[in-house]
Amino acid sequence: TEVTLREDLPESARNNLEMVKSSAFGLLTLINDILDFSKIEAGRFEIVSEGFNPLAILSDLKVMADTRNEGKLEINFNVPKDIPKRLNGDYVRIKQVMINYVSNAIKYTDKGSVNINVSYDKIDEKHVMFLFSVKDTGIGIKEEDMAKLFRSYSQVDTRVNHHKEGTGLGLAICKQLVELMKGEVRVESEYGSGSIFSFEIPLEVLDWSRAGELDNYKYTENEQEKETEVFVAPDARVLIVDDTKINLTVAKSLLKPTKMQVDLALSGEKAIELIKENDYDIVFMDHFMPGMDGVETTTAIRALPDAKKNSVTIVALTADAVSGVREELISKGMDDFLTKPIIVDDLYKILNKWVSK
Ligand code: ATP
Ligand code: MG
Repeated sequence: TEVTLREDLPESARNNLEMVKSSAFGLLTLINDILDFSKIEAGRFEIVSEGFNPLAILSDLKVMADTRNEGKLEINFNVPKDIPKRLNGDYVRIKQVMINYVSNAIKYTDKGSVNINVSYDKIDEKHVMFLFSVKDTGIGIKEEDMAKLFRSYSQVDTRVNHHKEGTGLGLAICKQLVELMKGEVRVESEYGSGSIFSFEIPLEVLDWSRAGELDNYKYTENEQEKETEVFVAPDARVLIVDDTKINLTVAKSLLKPTKMQVDLALSGEKAIELIKENDYDIVFMDHFMPGMDGVETTTAIRALPDAKKNSVTIVALTADAVSGVREELISKGMDDFLTKPIIVDDLYKILNKWVSK
């Protein structure tokens, strides 16, 4: 869809394709929710901690909230000025819980406000209890429904809510994630006047200095950049390895604006052959393939005698976005990681990072 949207299209076709694109993203979110949930149920979900700036997630959350809100409600963020600059935790999952709370508050509130409160309590010299709450002036929840809230696939008060989009998985995932992070979720609500959803999780503090104000927060060099630079490199040569033809075609089309020279390989064996013949600036490597898989192919490339060839940048392409897989692939000789379906912005980030200008 993204590739087609780049073409010169009649207005109506463009609008229809924009809807296809947005529905596809909706479907992807749903599939990811179901996968997350089933992984949690199967006991295969891992929490991966990394250092992060709390303002980085909160500023993303703010952008998301403004987009969903479309001016309907008043949205306020209340973040203490002395919040520590660097915490250690699974920020991807912490953000996921925040996003669900905030998008629920916007979804289930017709008028009024949504207040997002962040605070922390010092536990000891190295840890804080991180508190996050979202207060809305929405429809609220009936006393008898409170117990059902965090259950999977349950949308309560279906008579009032039947027109709201969702599967009722969001809160069940939030509760499980927060508990995996050794925290707790809570809800208070008054039917007809509003709700407060909150969670608290203990986090290690890596840097106690003040993060500063949310409104002044700018991405620094080591945080991801907001704007993706378009990457153009007609002299660069790239190899894409995937056993599915459609994936090769899509990846090649996505790379077209970069003007890079693109070669394709349908197997690991073919990829090794091509790498022996040509010098590549970057290789995108599928994970699961019949015959040699992505890891075996990478091991074989790293064992080639030519120092230039055996050190080529290899980026894993995989549909498996589970935590832990990234670390595993990188420990097996890959340099970076890109999830399928490929998001154009992420692809450009990888190119900007690994291919020399
Ligand atoms: P999704 O799986 O897409 O998140 P959902 O938002 O309907 O779907 P949950 O986030 O799990 O599902 O929420 C479960 C139910 O709890 C909702 O369907 C809604 O009935 C109720 N609920 C959640 N948040 C609020 C809120 N802020 N105010 C009122 N009701 C809420
Ligand atoms: Mg939800």
